[in-house]
Amino acid sequence: MKPKTGVVGLGIMGRPIAANLLKAGYELTVFNRTAAKADAFVAAVGGRKGQTPAEVASAADVVITMVSDSADVEQVVLGPNGIIEGARAGQVLIDMSTISPAVTRAIGARLLEKGVEMLDAPVSGGEKGAVAGTLTIMVGGKPAVFETCRPIFEALGKTITHMGQAGAGQLTKLCNQIICSNTLLAVCEGLVFARNAGLDAEKAIAALSGGAAQSWMLTHQAPKMLQRDFRPGFFVMHEQKDLRLVLETAREVGVALPGTRLIHQLYHAIEAEDGGEKLGHISLIKAIEKLANRVPPGAE
Ligand code: NAP
Repeated sequence: MKPKTGVVGLGIMGRPIAANLLKAGYELTVFNRTAAKADAFVAAVGGRKGQTPAEVASAADVVITMVSDSADVEQVVLGPNGIIEGARAGQVLIDMSTISPAVTRAIGARLLEKGVEMLDAPVSGGEKGAVAGTLTIMVGGKPAVFETCRPIFEALGKTITHMGQAGAGQLTKLCNQIICSNTLLAVCEGLVFARNAGLDAEKAIAALSGGAAQSWMLTHQAPKMLQRDFRPGFFVMHEQKDLRLVLETAREVGVALPGTRLIHQLYHAIEAEDGGEKLGHISLIKAIEKLANRVPPGAE
């Protein structure tokens, strides 16, 4: 029999994840801090609403959290009316948020005192991947617990990898963020260069997409940059949170990441704009345009 599931956090990512669990035939209870979002989800998609994260835990065998930052996971798991209050031995918490590996391990240790297992399972693939059920999922935790939860991961993602013990999923996700943010910066620089040099930027994207410059960022994000579509799939504030986690962890493990630090700084220029932190992360191109002192005509 399929385990009963719960999802805490129905934001950009949590909502399609919850929808895919229902689609795969899992019984589902949801909670969202802003209750209206949970009501809208239940009305439009299905499942039932829990009044608190604790209530979701009492109703489910496997609970997924998809909230913002380390402190938010701590709050929904260990805080008042948190998951731990409704949890029982043998249950599993899968945290799919991107948070600190050290905080992940600490939360897992607290849950284990109650016999509750935890997997850290952050994702890549964005809102599109979450909707399509094609996420890349990087998992840390006990191998046997991972195997038990594999069918749930298969309902949500396509490339599912058990990376090692607790925290290994989060470390892999931070590695992903280093590579993605540096690739994004390269695409931003290439586009600003192309436009300022008088090239047809759309044609340049098409020409380069088949060669050594090809990347997911070039194919999927560059066209949106040209359309000035900065609506969030992934908020600037979450990108900055991830880069902060990367830089903190890099210090702990003793590596210098000059490229990533630069990108963190460039995003400060976007955050300084009114509402900048709620723009999509591809708005990084605006920082490069400012440095060139040349924003495309009619763009701003
Ligand atoms: P989002 O749209 O901002 O959603 C965040 C969710 O967390 C909302 O449901 C929010 O509730 C809830 N939340 C935040 N703090 C909370 C707290 N203290 N207590 C209870 N609930 C809280 O963000 P998202 O884009 O879905 O991202 C969620 C996580 O996935 C983040 O860690 C992000 O880095 C990661 N991620 C995102 C993407 C992407 O492309 N968007 C890709 C990969 C990974 P309210 O509705 O009440 O605000």
